[in-house]
Amino acid sequence: MGNSTSIARRSKRSWSSLANPFSQAPPVEKSPAQRPIEKILIANRGEIACRIIKTARSLGLKTVAVYSDADRNSLHVRRADEAVFIGPASAQLSYLSTTSILDAARRTGADAIHPGYGFLSENSKFAQACHESGITFIGPSAAAISLMGDKSASKKLMSGANVPVVPGYHGDDQSHELLQSEADRIGYPVLIKPVLGGGGKGMRIVHSRDEFLDSLRSALRESAAAFGDTRVLIEKYIAQPRHIEVQIFGDRFGNVVHLFERDCSVQRRHQKIIEEAPAPLMSDDFRNSIGQAAVNAAKVSSFVICCCQIKISFLSKAVNYENAGTVEFIVDTATGEFFFMEMNTRLQVEHPVTEMVTRQDLVEWQIRVANGESLPLEQKSIPLQGHAFEARVYAENVPRGFLPAAGVLYHYNPPPASSTVRIETGVEQSDAVSVHYDPMIAKLVVWGSDRDMALAKLHNCLSNFQVAGLPTNIHFLKKLAKHPAFRAGDVETHFIEHHKNELLDFSESAKRDVKPFAALAAVGVCIRESFRRPESRIGGPWHTTSGFRVNNPYTRKISLDWMPESESLSCEPMSLDVTYSSDNEFLVKFAGDLSCVRLTAKRVASSGCDITVDINGISSTINYGYYLQKSAYHIHVWKDGEHHHFTTALREAYDTESHGETSQRLTSSGGSSKLTPGAVASPMAGLAVKVLAELGSNVKAGDPLLVLEAMKMEHTVKAHISGVINQVNVTAGQQVSDGGILFHIKAQES
Ligand code: ADP
Ligand code: ADP
Ligand code: MG
Repeated sequence: MGNSTSIARRSKRSWSSLANPFSQAPPVEKSPAQRPIEKILIANRGEIACRIIKTARSLGLKTVAVYSDADRNSLHVRRADEAVFIGPASAQLSYLSTTSILDAARRTGADAIHPGYGFLSENSKFAQACHESGITFIGPSAAAISLMGDKSASKKLMSGANVPVVPGYHGDDQSHELLQSEADRIGYPVLIKPVLGGGGKGMRIVHSRDEFLDSLRSALRESAAAFGDTRVLIEKYIAQPRHIEVQIFGDRFGNVVHLFERDCSVQRRHQKIIEEAPAPLMSDDFRNSIGQAAVNAAKVSSFVICCCQIKISFLSKAVNYENAGTVEFIVDTATGEFFFMEMNTRLQVEHPVTEMVTRQDLVEWQIRVANGESLPLEQKSIPLQGHAFEARVYAENVPRGFLPAAGVLYHYNPPPASSTVRIETGVEQSDAVSVHYDPMIAKLVVWGSDRDMALAKLHNCLSNFQVAGLPTNIHFLKKLAKHPAFRAGDVETHFIEHHKNELLDFSESAKRDVKPFAALAAVGVCIRESFRRPESRIGGPWHTTSGFRVNNPYTRKISLDWMPESESLSCEPMSLDVTYSSDNEFLVKFAGDLSCVRLTAKRVASSGCDITVDINGISSTINYGYYLQKSAYHIHVWKDGEHHHFTTALREAYDTESHGETSQRLTSSGGSSKLTPGAVASPMAGLAVKVLAELGSNVKAGDPLLVLEAMKMEHTVKAHISGVINQVNVTAGQQVSDGGILFHIKAQES
């Protein structure tokens, strides 16, 4: 982390000895109820819990992790000084349980709670409950959270204070007739948004008057399910916007500063995947005005919070917007106008890009401010240097419409961290990405002295980001980082949609490269086998016969299935002859083909299974990931930043041994070829929320059969053929596995 030295330096001093940089600010003052922060409980999990623990540690503070049943062995639990079990895997019963979390804080004597992002971070009742229990909530006041959590109230407030707001309707009258007439007045296209919305849920774009009522009803259904509330606002839909947000910070002395902007325009399903700071192609004038607008927004909210506190609790003291906040703006690329969208009253997922360009530790700022100190820097002293990107590495199936995935990280080897490369993660090799939470595996954050340098570094690090065992978006992120329009900084919120032909094309380059990789996979199998003890009965093709014969070339046949990223690309199994001659030299021939690859290979001594190869006088390092899953051995090969995945069948004897895999489970990738034609397999692991098809019912291709939920999203499983449902293997509330057979449809005779 670029700023780790400054943290280390500061942490040697005592808390109160830090000079107050605000001459106008009163001396550090704490409310009588507040204890100095010495121990922080982190009411979160995964990477953000690890991130907070790191800063707390560097400040000499003790940390307490909380964990659910699904997280007993998680990294955040291992990293914290103490850990408290708070309940079952379901977030409702653990990470969202105010009672369990406050109880854990009391039992461990924590003075403060950091909520991270997501979960309880924007729950005003939780912030209030912390306050009432004498525990410092590291974040803004409950009043500020509640005010800003209401998109209509916050927009009304901003428009009254000269912060530009997207033209729209933010009123209390929610009759369908009025909403329709307001949409007519604003002019189509319009956007319907739940007032208490978040995570892009329940939003509907309406292109014309006759679509309005249908879209409204469906937005209301989704909003009721997600937020337990059916109020919506209507606003002008901006056709080609950029999402630009400003990091702000306030303290209890009324100081508010901004730490510049982040561009988060590249999104899928209204969710960010790549963020950067500063925003590309933005003038300094624009930067100053949007930064100032954000500071004004925070100051306006301070004023209103103060008024409502006085009304509610007869407090005579002014209450300022305290701690971290993000003011999100939407920028119309057609006109260059910017509008207030919402204010998030928490630390944002993408905060590290701001940390990289300002060389500040925002979690340290949060803790200091919560401890009653004033802001560490005044506006004019906040630096802005170079350029930073964050790419969110997700467990997801990109060709299947970015469906979230779950599973075990059999191989996890991110690029090395340095002063310009940060890997923010909550997992290590062999950990699992659970179906219960967000499918983010890691955030890759890089810094460069300018945008081009940072982007080159991003691409390079993505090429060296090795994950195997579940599908990820790494290949997609690489394509994004290389895309000419992205390189030119020509971003807007429909970037992925507009460039999907190039970004989502997995075919040509993959097919072209696959043979040399297959040769390397086959050699990897032989080498791995020769280093295993022959008496080992763990099983697998590399435990049977050694490929090495003294003074006698030996040829071994290996059959490999290529597992391309997109199932539509699968090809015939490849049969390879690997001949080991001498001096680590291998000759690999493809059956039915004259081409061959001759190479010498040596194991890298320090690594379990990596080798260096020499092909035609060029040597390079090959990284492998091996594992057993779903009745096959999987071999992943990385060479020069390219990655391919192969499987080879198990020996029959091994196949019949039970390894805990039920016959119902089919392979997720390439598995469809083994399915009977009427079988409907689950496209992802998840919870069956609603079973829509009954035994014996008639369905048409495309009819919805089941609603599945996993990791913040709902997915509808549809019939792929028309016919009669003659098997139902799933009930509502059941957890289903990726590839599990849900239904069987008896095809209609036609
Ligand atoms: P951002 O604008 O910072 O991406 P979101 O409102 O989309 O914010 O959500 C913030 C983050 O909180 C998400 O990216 C996700 O990582 C986390 N999050 C939200 N809901 C959940 C949840 N139910 N389980 C786990 N993490 C969650
Ligand atoms: P959430 O709470 O779900 O983050 P936001 O109001 O921040 O909701 O909107 C999420 C995303 O939706 C934005 O990042 C942007 O891409 C898009 N969006 C929001 N408002 C508009 C608008 N008026 N016109 C076009 N796109 C919009
Ligand atoms: Mg938002």
